[in-house]
Amino acid sequence: MISAQRVASTGLAIADAAIDALSASLTGDILLPNHPDYDQTRAIWNAGIDRYPALIARVVNADDVIAAVNFARAHDLLVSVRGSGHNAAGFAVADGALMIDLSLMKRVVVDPEARVAVAEAGARLGDLDAATQAHGLAVPAGTISDTGIAGLTLGGGMGWLMRKYGLTIDNLLAVEIVTADGRLLVASQTENADLFWGVRGGGGNFGVVVSFAYRLHPVGPHVLAGFVVYPIAQAREMLQHGRDFMATAPDDLTVFNVLMTAPPAAPFPPELQGKPVLAVAMAYAGPIEEGERVVAPLRACGTPALDLVGPIPYTVWQSLLDESAPYGLHHYNKAHYLTGLDDDAIDVALDYFADVTSPLAQLHIGAVGGAVARVPADATAFAHRDAPNVFWLMNMWPPDGDAERQVAWTRSFWQAMRPFSTGGAYVNAIGDEGRDGIRAAYAPATYERLVALKRTYDPTNLFRLNQNIAPDAAP
Ligand SMILES: Cc1cc2nc3c(=O)[nH]c(=O)nc-3n(C[C@H](O)[C@H](O)[C@H](O)COP(=O)(O)OP(=O)(O)OC[C@H]3O[C@@H](n4cnc5c(N)ncnc54)[C@H](O)[C@@H]3O)c2cc1C
Repeated sequence: MISAQRVASTGLAIADAAIDALSASLTGDILLPNHPDYDQTRAIWNAGIDRYPALIARVVNADDVIAAVNFARAHDLLVSVRGSGHNAAGFAVADGALMIDLSLMKRVVVDPEARVAVAEAGARLGDLDAATQAHGLAVPAGTISDTGIAGLTLGGGMGWLMRKYGLTIDNLLAVEIVTADGRLLVASQTENADLFWGVRGGGGNFGVVVSFAYRLHPVGPHVLAGFVVYPIAQAREMLQHGRDFMATAPDDLTVFNVLMTAPPAAPFPPELQGKPVLAVAMAYAGPIEEGERVVAPLRACGTPALDLVGPIPYTVWQSLLDESAPYGLHHYNKAHYLTGLDDDAIDVALDYFADVTSPLAQLHIGAVGGAVARVPADATAFAHRDAPNVFWLMNMWPPDGDAERQVAWTRSFWQAMRPFSTGGAYVNAIGDEGRDGIRAAYAPATYERLVALKRTYDPTNLFRLNQNIAPDAAP
């Protein structure tokens, strides 16, 4: 017997025989708390989340996923879905739940002629980049190679190629998905198109995705990318300059401004180490010489302490920032979309960052626009495509840090930026906002449509451990 958690948060005992039958039906395996891999599989990127699932179904194919979903439904079990476990909010793991762990499903198959990649849902961005760059191709995705393709894609997917080629979902051709009733469906523009609309921004609400098919673009092998670092005293002027520059910049260029504390190591000069800095991180998706010309005026302003922009292999750039967000730290996220980056918004951001509580905290402000904004608002469930800027506050601290103080600073910073917010936020960047925050992550018409879709595909809310669209939510 194991004790588990029902969806209704009441206890449940599951007979050994039922678990043995589930185990026998899987090609993958079941991990109970005494299994040697149990602890490493329940661990996620945000080390502040330490939860104990009743059992883990370590699935290796679609049939395994179907068996696990059917088991959860039959036993009224709380179920969590783990792609790569990189989401800071930590919904991938829950006490007493059945965790469906996809991390062994990492295969990526590339058809270079058709320019299509099909990736299993446990792949990370690094797996996808390695397989596609072998053919000089890429899927627009995120900025840290450990991030899972599943969670990232289902929320939208923002990264260095977004202004040229759109979000990850704008390059999604189809998914294979196991819905709450245990069916394996294909969702694409031509099959189950309503579901395809919903998985492009609606998160893990509609089922367990087994594989993603993506459209590929020629990228690299080298791109022009890197960052220019300024002492904090120049940050105001540089943020203003960058804002004005991006207003007319070509779509090939994506820039994220990062307020951070310079780490105590090269290449940061000793006088900057441990001090707050502005890192202007950029990537150009077109030819390198053209990129050099385009970014020259951006780099020419101010007196940078460090300029590390140059040609770099795309795969190296895609993993260069991994060290800035390592495993093993505690993490708390807050985000807004900004209506713009006016001088007052810059001042408030700099004032708050001056009192940063952790040397590992980062504030990312990126200009969106470009190809992201050209997709019609109702084409996908991803909302707020017209927001000019994304504000993403990622606080990180070691396990012995003062969590209460860190969370309080992050929340008050986020609160202070509210006057400059569109009211919405990127669903992959929010944390514990609850129903109101989730609702605000979507435009009202999108939210209403998501609720209707949830009622169709998951009326009992089996998939509730996510930024949840509850089927009983008022429209
Ligand atoms: C340091 C850091 C950097 C980031 N950088 C970026 C970035 O550059 N761009 C960007 O867009 N986002 C970025 N993100 C956010 C990222 O997109 C989300 O955290 C995403 O959810 C991670 O996906 P995962 O599969 O690793 O997460 P997991 O924690 O495994 O999953 C998160 C949730 O997604 C759902 N889910 C996962 N797999 C499946 C599946 N197969 N089927 C159905 N539902 C599933 C579940 O609800 C699950 O709880 C970053 C996050 C962090 C912490």
